[in-house]
This record gives sequence, structure tokens and C-alpha cells, in this order.
Amino acid sequence: MSEELENIEVLIIGSGPAGYTAAIYAARADLNPVVIQGLQPGGQLTTTTEVDNYPGYPNGVDGTKMMEDFKAQAERFDTDTRWGMVTKVDFSERPFKVEIDGTKNVMAETVIISTGATAKWLGIPDEERLNGFGVSACAVCDGFFYKGQEVVVVGAGDTAAEEATYLAKLCTKVTMLVRRDEMRASKAMQKRVFNTDNITVLFNHETKSINGEKGVESVTAFNNQTQEETVIPATGFFVAIGHKPNTDIFKGQLEMDDNGYLIVEPGTSKTQIPGVFAAGDVADHVYRQAVTSAGTGCMAALDAERFLAAQE
Ligand code: NDP
Repeated sequence: MSEELENIEVLIIGSGPAGYTAAIYAARADLNPVVIQGLQPGGQLTTTTEVDNYPGYPNGVDGTKMMEDFKAQAERFDTDTRWGMVTKVDFSERPFKVEIDGTKNVMAETVIISTGATAKWLGIPDEERLNGFGVSACAVCDGFFYKGQEVVVVGAGDTAAEEATYLAKLCTKVTMLVRRDEMRASKAMQKRVFNTDNITVLFNHETKSINGEKGVESVTAFNNQTQEETVIPATGFFVAIGHKPNTDIFKGQLEMDDNGYLIVEPGTSKTQIPGVFAAGDVADHVYRQAVTSAGTGCMAALDAERFLAAQE
């Protein structure tokens, strides 16, 4: 006898701004959404301190508090928020079969994927120790706190180049640590970096330590050719060595770009599988902001609602 599985109208995977905004919209449309929170309930914002750029919070808000507010708003309309990790999906036929925590299966008429992306870190101990106290992976989020100060950016791709030029407008000096003798960033982005007076690029340089007890005070870098060390005064340390979208469980089922980001039909949240939608950083390597994630979460809920209406 086959087991009777719970059938969910809108299953939302992930609980960052995209997931909860999708839940608010889906719940208000009486679609009884279920949010599977994932490994990091609240998502990346719970790892930052103050969020100053989300509209509606004139005095800023703690990232964790903001995500508690998102959750409370979704639950006010009876969103069912559940602990757990989605471990397997089968998008070959609808309703879709979704496995949670490797043990439990549910069926879903529609799925909204908002699993986000994870910033890559260098993996040195100081980075973890001072995370949120000078160490950051998002210049647009945290750069303002270093206005008029000196900072270090690690990385050599488009993100690092973009973060360095963004920070150069706020900070007195930006030092970029590039581990090879050239940058990976596009020529146009490199040109912007080299044309900015207060950015210094140190090629062949890597991070030895981030110094300071309660906050970042300086960074010790070393030249990987000569081993010579340099101590760079800095109050901010920005790691911009890429993000990894959380899409491993969708491999082979959904279209992705070379970096693993989900591909959606432009201007919509639709993946190539009808009834499966993507929102937030998992499908966006360019903007990656809480407010853009929330916006695409709204789109995904409206797309799911229209999809379900069209099935009736
Ligand atoms: P990338 O993977 O392109 O670049 C990562 C950079 O970090 C590389 O230069 C790499 O060095 C460096 N790096 C990796 N690990 C370490 C380490 N342990 N220590 C020091 N340096 C390290 O990531 P991005 O986030 O920059 O870009 C991701 C994608 O998004 C790209 O396709 C990019 O073009 C795109 N993008 C586009 C933007 C735009 O169009 N405006 C803006 C931002 C991103 P190495 O070169 O030696 O491997």
C-alpha cells in the first residue's frame, strides 16, 4: 500500500527575505504556504549586525531582529513555518515529491526555491572571531560603518572590484589583496579600480592575520612570492571571494548557470519547470540585496498563485 503523503499548495524552501515575503503573499492569497526553514533560519541576514538600507526602518535594524519580524508577519497570516532541511526533490512530475531531513516526504503543488547563497570565507580563525566586528562579506550592507576610515578588501573578481570602488567613495583608503599577479575581474571593472586614487592593489598578496581584540585594527598580509609581511592599518576587512548558491539538491533537475545559480525566465520567477519558482540570491548573483530578494519573493508568490489558478 502506498503511503498517504501530505499535499501542500505552496512549499517554500528557505527562510530569508525572499522566502518569508513569498510566504506573506501566498498566505494572504489563502494558499496555506509551508516554509521549510533550512540550516540557517532567517538566512544570511542573521549573520550581519545592523541593517541600515532596508526601507521602512529609519533607524536601522538588527539583521536577526528583521528576520524575526519577517517571520512574525508571515505567521500572522497563518504561514506554517517548520524546522528542517529539504534533502531531495523530484520535479519530474506534479505534484512534486520533496524529502525533508532525509526521512519525511511531502507532496507540493508548487515549490518556491529561496535557498539563497553562502558567502565564501578564507577560513582563517580571525575571520570568524571578528565576524560582525569589522569583518564582513558585504560592502553595500556594512560599508557605511567605515566612513572616513581605512579598509582592506580580499578578492580579485568583479565582486571584489565592485566592493572596492563602492568602499572607496566612503573610506579614505582601500587596500585590495589579490592572490595572483592579475585580477580576474572584467577589464572594465579593473579600469575603474586602477582609476580610483584611494585604492591600492597589492598583487601576490594573501592574508596572514586580522589583528585586534574587540574589532579590526589592522591586517597582516604577506607576499606569496617573497614571504615579506606588511601590516596594513584598517578597521574593516571585506571578504569578496565569491558566493556559492545553495542549489546542490537541484542539480540535474533545474537549469543553472556555470556558477550554479538557478536560471529563471527574465522578468519572472519561473524556472523551466512549470510550478517551480525561484526567488532571491539563489537566482541572482548581481544585486544580492535583502530588498531585491523580498521583491522577487513577492513575484514568486504571485507567479505561483497564477499558476495554480490556471490549473483549475
Ligand atoms: P569570482 O569567482 O569571479 O571571483 C572570486 C575571486 O576571489 C577570484 O579573483 C579569486 O582569485 C579570489 N579568491 C578565491 N578564493 C580566494 C582566497 N582563498 N584568497 C584570496 N582570493 C581568493 O566571484 P565574484 O563574486 O567576483 O563573481 C561571481 C560572478 O558574478 C562572476 O561571474 C562575476 O562576473 C559576476 N559578477 C558580476 C557583476 C557585474 O556584472 N556587475 C558584479 C559582481 C559579480 P583567483 O582569480 O586567483 O582565482
